[in-house]
Amino acid sequence: MLHVDRIADLRATCDRARASGLRVGVVPTMGYLHDGHRSLMRAAHAASDFVVVTIFVNPLQFGAHEDLDTYPRDLAGDLAQCAAEGVDCVFSPSVAEMYPRSPLTTVHVSELTADLCGAARPTHFDGVTTVVAKLFAIVGPCAAFFGRKDAQQLAVVTRMADDLNLPVEVVGCPIVREADGLAMSSRNAYLSPPDREAALVLSRALRGAVDAVVRGERDARRVAQLVREVVATEPRVELEYAEVRDAHELTPMVTVDGSALIAVAARVGETRLIDNVVVRVDDSGVTADVGMASAAESGAALGSTTPV
Ligand code: AMP
Repeated sequence: MLHVDRIADLRATCDRARASGLRVGVVPTMGYLHDGHRSLMRAAHAASDFVVVTIFVNPLQFGAHEDLDTYPRDLAGDLAQCAAEGVDCVFSPSVAEMYPRSPLTTVHVSELTADLCGAARPTHFDGVTTVVAKLFAIVGPCAAFFGRKDAQQLAVVTRMADDLNLPVEVVGCPIVREADGLAMSSRNAYLSPPDREAALVLSRALRGAVDAVVRGERDARRVAQLVREVVATEPRVELEYAEVRDAHELTPMVTVDGSALIAVAARVGETRLIDNVVVRVDDSGVTADVGMASAAESGAALGSTTPV
């Protein structure tokens, strides 16, 4: 496995791969890798010949009072995990390498970034789209793999690639969960044992919302309210939002129909967590993409959609 930290080296490596006919896939991450990231690497492997993982804690996507300085890091552990997944190249640049000077050019996707996580983190998505655009320009990938855990990020990056005619396929991958339902996240490392226990209320509330849709509930406001009520039973968890949106456009839904994203964000102590499920309602019934248990825990097949 190659490990590079200079843009010129990564560009030369990817140029060579493409010149020899290889399809390059990229997995952008901020490191402190877990099975969620590893599922993206596997998806990249299945669809590409040369897999690049980027590890960069991007200052541009952190707000002034957020956790940039304390964000967990473990480059040696990350490299071992990438090697175990058969990754071809890891890129872990310094901040100075990515931003030798403060950029005057940034990428802004409007509307899709205005609310949900964008409400509490008004500069976050510009930071994400700017760094992802830079990574696409450096790597020149045929495909890029993102987790559905960050559903709004996936919608925003997909729209950016479409609007700007970027020659890259943006691929969304299922959420990977711990055996008890907690969505995997590098930020879970911040949780004290009682906070981690309390955080389970998020996946429980989403599961309850899916069950309500299965029982026939189609009023999106009532589904969101159910989520709020379940989360409210856990005093350690402060809900930021619970919303039911069109899964692709992120527009508010009145009636649950087609693909509905049920999304939550909450603070557990100092830690901000997000989670979601996608419920599909059509003539043949209801299916839910609730994600999957970690492959290490359960050996579950990747990419499963659960008929409910
Ligand atoms: P991060 O390192 O948190 O920026 O995440 C890098 C990529 O991994 C993003 O596309 C995330 O959506 C994805 N990701 C993070 N957690 C999970 C998870 N539990 N399941 C699937 N993908 C994930």
